[in-house]
Amino acid sequence: MEIHFQNIGKVWPDGTPALHEVELTVPAGQFCVLLGHSGAGKSTLLRCVNGLETPTSGGVCIDGQPVDRTSLPALRRRIAMVHQHFGLVPRASGAANVMAGAVPVMPLWRVLTGLYPAASRRRVCDLLKAVGLDEVHLRRRAEQLSGGQQQRLGLARAFMLDPAILLADEPVASLDPALAREVLGLLKAQAREHGSTVLCSLHQLDLARAFADRIVALHRGRVIFDGAPDTLNTRD
Ligand code: ADP
Ligand code: ADP
Repeated sequence: MEIHFQNIGKVWPDGTPALHEVELTVPAGQFCVLLGHSGAGKSTLLRCVNGLETPTSGGVCIDGQPVDRTSLPALRRRIAMVHQHFGLVPRASGAANVMAGAVPVMPLWRVLTGLYPAASRRRVCDLLKAVGLDEVHLRRRAEQLSGGQQQRLGLARAFMLDPAILLADEPVASLDPALAREVLGLLKAQAREHGSTVLCSLHQLDLARAFADRIVALHRGRVIFDGAPDTLNTRD
């Protein structure tokens, strides 16, 4: 699905400005990196897509449809999110954490009781393999896994919905460089092979350069660069 940010502005109730006139269209299937220092507005912009934040001015359209209270329930079945600190349920098993990704389309009691349909159970196993985990990690509690394994679990949970849009908020900020590259490779593959529109915030220029189809650099809530990675001049 295509994401269109239409002249988005955001000012927090305490008067802190977060976004200024951000105008941006991210086509379906693109791996677009939002690059910027902490506080640049990346997280706020991402969160406007799935309604976790509301812009003060302007709006977001997805495939031409405005994101609002009416459209959000249906959109949330198509949008998944990956977080810097993974956002897993620490004491729940790996399997339950991945299955939780299906909550928008599956009754919560199924996740809580472990009574999943066989097809969902197979999907959890397939997804775990795809992100480089195996059966052992299914049964272990999330808190017993390493940071890298936890983020792989976070990705598998996000892939569970086969999301048309995947929002990744600093997904590799807590990982060492080798793991960071692996996780970004998996996100890129989700765009390439499954056609998901992936919008991913990063603060590392080298990683953005190596993986992005397109880099949008934000500084103090404004877009200061928008283009292919090889056209980004480091002096900018
Ligand atoms: P980034 O993701 O690039 O680090 P954020 O979108 O989190 O940036 O933050 C953009 C600006 O908005 C920062 O100045 C931040 O301090 C501020 N901000 C973020 N969340 C809130 C909030 N809930 N209330 C007030 N200010 C906020
Ligand atoms: P992250 O780990 O994603 O970078 P932050 O430290 O930016 O998290 O923000 C943590 C929480 O605090 C978020 O919910 C954010 O909205 C809120 N927040 C960030 N900056 C401010 C601020 N200046 N005033 C109030 N809340 C803020």
